[in-house]
Amino acid sequence: RAKVQQRAGHFYFSHSMGIEIRERVKMMHALRRAFDEGQLFLAYQPQIDLATRRPMGAEALLRWQTEDGNFVAPDRFISIAEYSGLIIELGEWVLRTACLELVRLRTLGYLDFMISVNVSQAQFRHPRFLDILRQVLTDTQAPAEFIELEITESMAMEEPAFLSETLHQVKQLGLSIAIDDFGTGFSSLNYLQQLHVDRLKIDRAFVNEITDSSRGSSIAEMVIQLGRKLDLSVVAEGVEDERQAAILANLGCASAQGFLFARPMAAAQLADWLKHAGLGAALHTQSESISE
Ligand code: C2E
Ligand code: MG
Ligand code: MG
Ligand code: MG
Repeated sequence: RAKVQQRAGHFYFSHSMGIEIRERVKMMHALRRAFDEGQLFLAYQPQIDLATRRPMGAEALLRWQTEDGNFVAPDRFISIAEYSGLIIELGEWVLRTACLELVRLRTLGYLDFMISVNVSQAQFRHPRFLDILRQVLTDTQAPAEFIELEITESMAMEEPAFLSETLHQVKQLGLSIAIDDFGTGFSSLNYLQQLHVDRLKIDRAFVNEITDSSRGSSIAEMVIQLGRKLDLSVVAEGVEDERQAAILANLGCASAQGFLFARPMAAAQLADWLKHAGLGAALHTQSESISE
């Protein structure tokens, strides 16, 4: 009896696994098609100087809108793109598109504006990563000093020697580096000090906590102090209300990004937003018109 149940259990297990894999493969094909058919685009979320509330730059965030009008969250499809290898091509496209947007904004007169681009581990590890980066800079004529690459803290933990060398090369090209989702990984201080990074991005989870617990505030505070010690700038992500912004500003956090200031928006809206920015955050808290 036990054996039958075991077998039945085993059958059930592999059956549901099969479905999961089939779902993934389906999504892989759909993503490939969406990419080829131009259904992917970038949304840009402004980052502001916390002291002056002036825009400093924007993070490029990938969006996938399917034919039925619904959006698939990047947290779902990025891993599929990594799994299938599409991330290499897709990541290059993201970089190129963001660079072109940077150039366009510069022609509109936004000469101090930075664009941040997320780079996944698979991209970063790809043997041609640096070649691709150079090629995109050459093709688009985007100034490297206004481009920041965001890598995650967990990525920073693997293969320290390789990472350190690649970051060095990226810095040589003139780009900046931010560590995204900071506080969720386990980088040691010692190690962090040796990496060629410029900014730490406090993970949204810790920003979220600062208003309702002193413990949370101390994590954000720790990151800000760490930034000061290591001479790294700190940006807070996921700032949703004025209290959070005030606490972060008091702690000495340089910049922030979040729904309080602006939702991610299509490129066409960004220039418009920038025209009106600096007049107060309240004007810019409409819902993300392209993805929610
Ligand atoms: P991330 O890089 O940490 O991006 C920040 C995420 O927080 C974005 O989610 C953004 O829309 C969201 N966010 C910003 N402010 C707020 C806020 O005030 N409240 C809340 N609740 N959320 C806020 P999104 O666009 O869904 O992206 C999720 C993740 O997908 C990103 O996290 C990033 O890891 C990944 N991703 C997005 N675009 C790309 C890309 O082009 N390449 C790669 N490799 N990864 C990407
Ligand atoms: Mg990011
Ligand atoms: Mg982040
Ligand atoms: Mg995050």
